[in-house]
Amino acid sequence: MEETEYFYHPLENIEDVDVFEEAVERKRLTKSLSKDRPYTYWTLEIYDQENGIRGGGGLGVLAADTRRVADQLDVPFILITPFYPSEIHQIIKDGKMYDAHRLVDYNIFGFRYVDTVNIKCDGRVCHLDVIQKTFNSTKIICVTEPNFGELYSGMSGSDHRLYQEVSLGFGGYQALKLIGVKPAIMQLNEVATFFAALARLDELVSNGMDFYEAVVYTRKHTLYTNHTLVQAAEAEFGYQQFERYVFPNLKSPAVKKWLSDKFCDGKLKLSSVTIEIAELRSGVSKLHARVANYHDIAGNKVKFKAITNGIDMNRWVMSEIMNLYERDQILDENTMPEIGFAEKVEQISAQEIRALKAIGRGILNETLASRPDHNGKILRFDDNDFIFDFKRRFVDYKRPEMPFRDPAKLRAVLEPRGAHYIIAGRVHAGDNTMMKKLIELLWTISRDSYLATHVHYLADYDEKLAYALSCGSNAAINIPIVGLEACGTSWMKDVANLNLLISTHDGGVADASTESYLNVRGADENEELSELYRRMEEAIQAWDNDFDLEFWVRKQLAAYLPVVSGARMLNDYLDYLFPSQKA
Ligand SMILES: *Cc1c(COP(=O)(O)O)cnc(C)c1O
Repeated sequence: MEETEYFYHPLENIEDVDVFEEAVERKRLTKSLSKDRPYTYWTLEIYDQENGIRGGGGLGVLAADTRRVADQLDVPFILITPFYPSEIHQIIKDGKMYDAHRLVDYNIFGFRYVDTVNIKCDGRVCHLDVIQKTFNSTKIICVTEPNFGELYSGMSGSDHRLYQEVSLGFGGYQALKLIGVKPAIMQLNEVATFFAALARLDELVSNGMDFYEAVVYTRKHTLYTNHTLVQAAEAEFGYQQFERYVFPNLKSPAVKKWLSDKFCDGKLKLSSVTIEIAELRSGVSKLHARVANYHDIAGNKVKFKAITNGIDMNRWVMSEIMNLYERDQILDENTMPEIGFAEKVEQISAQEIRALKAIGRGILNETLASRPDHNGKILRFDDNDFIFDFKRRFVDYKRPEMPFRDPAKLRAVLEPRGAHYIIAGRVHAGDNTMMKKLIELLWTISRDSYLATHVHYLADYDEKLAYALSCGSNAAINIPIVGLEACGTSWMKDVANLNLLISTHDGGVADASTESYLNVRGADENEELSELYRRMEEAIQAWDNDFDLEFWVRKQLAAYLPVVSGARMLNDYLDYLFPSQKA
């Protein structure tokens, strides 16, 4: 049998002394979170260009940051993800926009081949290469093969997606066995990674564990992290698809029966079975955990523990600003806010903010030197220029086009100060509606003589641009339709890098009060739009007035540094998973 002892036990379930003693014993055992029994993190997406893997957005950035923070805090941690041999880049050239597909070679990024594992798919045996890269206390393990395709290639619900998901789950689980690792915990970063937990259940049962015991065991060691709001929007797989891709990989008839019984009219949503296999469940901000609308198979509403996303501050915050946080004892050496940090941020002066942001402007200019705007122009900004940025995926609910609904008004906001507005964000491949909106937006810009020279769209948004803009701009605009952003992390990069945040009260921003930043609200979209323009004017005024600049920067830091800290996030996960173990 693979494992006999298990040690996770939620403290709130303690009912009598015997159980309590058992819990104490388990707490002791959690200390043995080790290289052989690590925290394992499963994700279809990681955004980690430094290690050769480009993601699509926030979910991937979160995965990369979680691994880096674990590495800094010496937590034994393995991230298991596919390596996609091809990635998409967005190109704008001579007024045309198109996608370019580039091959990526994992050898260049320090990954080493371990071995090949096999899974069954559609009547064939598929060979998956296992590659790994080792860091301090963490590893990235990938499964890959030449035809693996790109991240999110094919429709969700398609055969190819199922193939990728099954490869990660069954292939990744075999990869762990190859290197002699047993997961202490399996964190499933969204339901596409369900098959990893299924592979574990199947192995326990086929090794002789009683089926129900194996279900209980798997449930206690599996954390499902949800990033989505509505279950109804999730794609479904059909029974026939499972017959081709999933069932052939199961050794245990009992597990197959269990899974077959979960189909409803021949269809299955992975969330319904992920909820069944994971007793631990988390959402990615306070608001999201409260409003995520999920039901288990019995129809009961699912509760999610709120663990707000954080960022790896060492990765995303200018080192000069990190030095200030350390010097003034605002953050400790693990990037956790120190006791009393909220009073200490009161010492940050406008003069210091301006000096730091001048360094940030240099970083931005350096990056922009090789990233022309949509007109092919190389941008270069003076310290005194004012820059708004909107940098996030070009998806409908984030409302990238909202500030352009009244171009004359936008011009009136920007022109008196000579302010610029930078947009960076890719349209999801195949999203024709948003592609049309982007083209319309570029038309709107080109028709106004001021906007044509002061609004810039930067193609191929990636980590590098995200970092450069959070270092070098003055104010960031984050205006999702309230209720639709699960957390968002780009606003965290802005707050930590001393930009002013103009935002609707949604996602992780809503972890603190509406007084903490330049809040945009209104009874309808028209009201929100006028409020947005008003807040943009306020941001401009604040940068030209020491008192206001200090007021907002200090307020943002006091409210959000604990939210932003990735070390805080990882500690929250460890607290939830192993009530005794802290990094
Ligand atoms: C930080 C970051 C994100 C996260 O964006 P949100 O819209 O805040 O979820 C996405 N893409 C890149 C490249 C990033 O650096």
